[in-house]
Amino acid sequence: MGAKKRCQFQLGTDDQCNLAALRIVGQCPHCRVQFCGDHRLPEHHSCNNLEDCRQQAFDRNKTKLESERTVASKMATA
Ligand SMILES: [Zn+2]
Ligand SMILES: [Zn+2]
Repeated sequence: MGAKKRCQFQLGTDDQCNLAALRIVGQCPHCRVQFCGDHRLPEHHSCNNLEDCRQQAFDRNKTKLESERTVASKMATA
């Protein structure tokens, strides 16, 4: 039985979170760090990899919009 893992928010600083990290659901899928219920969301721990996911979602959305626009303009000229 190991000691309960602490939330790693602000790890290594005086402000490190004192709450216990949640098992399984506490691990951020983006940066793989373990957090408590308060900090597990990427927005709440200023996730290092959040920029990347935002960018990916943005690119996906852009591609989708562009393909829709192409279809719409084809329909308009048809
Ligand atoms: Zn925390
Ligand atoms: Zn994260």
